[in-house]
Amino acid sequence: MVNKNSAWDYLKEGFLNLIYPLSCENCGKSIRESKGYSICDDCMKQIKLISSPYCYQCGKPLSPMVYFEEKAMCSDCNSKEKHYFNRSVAYYQGVMRKCIHLLKYKKQVKLIQPLGDLMIDYLKADNFYDIQEIDLIIPVPLFKGDFLRRGFNQSSLLAEYVANYFSLSFSNDLLIKNKENVSQVGLSKIERKNNVKNVFSINSSFKKDIYNILLIDDIFTTGATVEACCKELRKTGIKKIFVLTLARGI
Ligand SMILES: [Zn+2]
Ligand SMILES: [Zn+2]
Repeated sequence: MVNKNSAWDYLKEGFLNLIYPLSCENCGKSIRESKGYSICDDCMKQIKLISSPYCYQCGKPLSPMVYFEEKAMCSDCNSKEKHYFNRSVAYYQGVMRKCIHLLKYKKQVKLIQPLGDLMIDYLKADNFYDIQEIDLIIPVPLFKGDFLRRGFNQSSLLAEYVANYFSLSFSNDLLIKNKENVSQVGLSKIERKNNVKNVFSINSSFKKDIYNILLIDDIFTTGATVEACCKELRKTGIKKIFVLTLARGI
């Protein structure tokens, strides 16, 4: 588990901070306390959270200027059927963007704790999700090769952190990623869709007594990844699939 540190870990980190003091990647201020990641508390508070109005289906923020009805949907969701309902906690910009980069590329896995806490706070505050209804929390998986290269799946760490907090079941291998898809960055909408085609499948050992699932991912861009995951999950007879993503790109 990520959030449990032994006294030894704290001593070790405190000692390392003395030798290699961390400075905040956002404001440059030195970080004295033992955190294991380089974003100060003041900067963490700058993360821009998404609040209503947003699309009932995909969670896309809608202009507060438009007339807002309870289940308003964005034009994209109005024009085509989707297999998921997504909510995103924050905008993928500024400090949130830095946090995700530090997590993924500088392996500052201790960031799972403050970022996971943002997801927990969201789940507690938003009445769209009834956490009591959830049978299982799962992450969007990584392809084995990507996992071995990075050493961890940040979405899996987030999902496990959230599941532990709510004492819910967690599965790391219900969904399987079968192939490596090239980075979604810089691709057109159609290219992104083809990029995730037949990428995911369900683990054959899956027991069909699970009804409601919460799928967790770090970044939501076009939704092509979660759509591909949820399409597979729907084939199993799972009743409700909720998606919660940490940050939203668009
Ligand atoms: Zn700072
Ligand atoms: Zn939408």
